[in-house]
Amino acid sequence: MTAEKSVHIAGAGLSGLVAAITLARQGHDVTVLDRAKSIGGLRPHHPSNHSTPVNVQLMKDYVGIDITPCLVPQKNMYVYVEGHRYRVSWSCYSVERGPRKTSLDHFLYDLAVKEGVKFEFGQVVTDPSALPEPAILATGLFPEMYKALGRPMLRLPCFSTTRKLEDPERQGEIRNWIGPYTNTYGYAPIINGLDYILLFSDRDLSRENLRQFEEELARSEGIRVDRWDAFEVFVPLSTPDAPTLFLGSKILAGTLAGMMEPGAYFGIHGALLSGRIAARAVTDPEGAVRDFRRFNQGYKPAWRRSRRMRNPQKQFFQRWFFRFPRFFGPLMRMGDNGIPGIDHFMKGMKSEYLGRY
Ligand SMILES: Cc1cc2nc3c(=O)[nH]c(=O)nc-3n(C[C@H](O)[C@H](O)[C@H](O)COP(=O)(O)OP(=O)(O)OC[C@H]3O[C@@H](n4cnc5c(N)ncnc54)[C@H](O)[C@@H]3O)c2cc1C
Repeated sequence: MTAEKSVHIAGAGLSGLVAAITLARQGHDVTVLDRAKSIGGLRPHHPSNHSTPVNVQLMKDYVGIDITPCLVPQKNMYVYVEGHRYRVSWSCYSVERGPRKTSLDHFLYDLAVKEGVKFEFGQVVTDPSALPEPAILATGLFPEMYKALGRPMLRLPCFSTTRKLEDPERQGEIRNWIGPYTNTYGYAPIINGLDYILLFSDRDLSRENLRQFEEELARSEGIRVDRWDAFEVFVPLSTPDAPTLFLGSKILAGTLAGMMEPGAYFGIHGALLSGRIAARAVTDPEGAVRDFRRFNQGYKPAWRRSRRMRNPQKQFFQRWFFRFPRFFGPLMRMGDNGIPGIDHFMKGMKSEYLGRY
């Protein structure tokens, strides 16, 4: 029987909440500090709709929390690549993030409150050494903690917009745009009455890039956007050894721990698993390290692959990927046997060419 501890967690995002719920269920006294005024309340990051190749069964078994009420299976995924339109089907889900009751954040927050977790909102943690131990750092995509810990980070500029779209027929639909305006992609999942459009990149995004993307939205889907939110997020992508569980006496979780897919930047499934591992690290550090290594074993090969494919190879790959998934799919899956992500959602992927637009 493990002695009860008083645990502090910086960050009430996905990994922080999973860690908090797990530890509270084990009888520990848990306090979560978050910079937002309320759960998921950060603008302009949220409300937003995310896409995740989560393996539902594995997640339920390992994390001990069933998030299926928040998952919307993707249907009708349309991909627009430089004038060509595809319909793609694969095993992927959309999930709402942010302050609304329908979000994954709110779902986990309600569970945490039920388990007796205490929350202190409006607290920006900039000095991790000021947190009593044991402490879990789960501050996600924000720069302060990377700076405080001396972790190398990569800046991803983003433009987003949210529109109401109440048509139940379109629940689960997702659109994806690939073109010269970004070396990643733009995407827009529709769930819970919201159409959330995001363009991001791992190089600068200029107003001219945004204008080109606007033209693409109008041409492909007849979408006109009145107002964009501009912001930036940070991920630890700069080294092949980015995944890190312990830094000094602190436990890292989620994006800050580097538990994300380094090519397509999927982070939700990694954050959920990582929260469970961080909780384990409080009482069983060796077991936590074993699990952390197991789930991150595919990181290095995926990192090398994404490094090798800089522009213009990356754009070349993206352009042909949806036309010949049988050829390019296995390349994507190579070595990605860690966090169940790309490997899982590429299985059974089908792509249908719908012609020019
Ligand atoms: C706009 C957007 C779109 C995205 N789309 C996708 C997607 O489609 N698919 C996908 O898999 N991933 C996506 N991601 C990434 C995904 O959100 C993250 O990978 C995931 O949320 C990481 O979980 P986390 O626990 O590390 O951090 P988060 O869930 O981001 O939580 C971090 C928490 O820490 C708090 N915080 C930050 N700094 C401090 C501080 N100094 N002190 C106190 N609190 C602090 C924040 O308020 C936040 O609540 C997207 C991210 C953004 C911003």
